[in-house]
Amino acid sequence: MTASTSRRRKAWNQGKTGTGRAAADSPVIERCPVEVCGTEATGPAPIKGMVKVRVPGSAEPARWYCPGRCHAIGQALAELRSIPPQGTSPQRKGR
Ligand SMILES: [Zn+2]
Repeated sequence: MTASTSRRRKAWNQGKTGTGRAAADSPVIERCPVEVCGTEATGPAPIKGMVKVRVPGSAEPARWYCPGRCHAIGQALAELRSIPPQGTSPQRKGR
């Protein structure tokens, strides 16, 4: 951080300094340290024990995840991407 950035930040915070809360654009979940986690499942599992996630109709391709937490996150992500964008859903027509 440069001196001028610091000064501007201080002014914006009405003189308050110190560590604020995490920026709003920081990831909600920490990235998994396993390099192949979340890679597209085009062949056999890159690491033994990886779980394949594939949701029919999802924009997300089949991907490999670590079992447990990553698997749950991957599953949720794929399910979210199977929801059509707002305004194109047939259930919303005629309202
Ligand atoms: Zn993982």
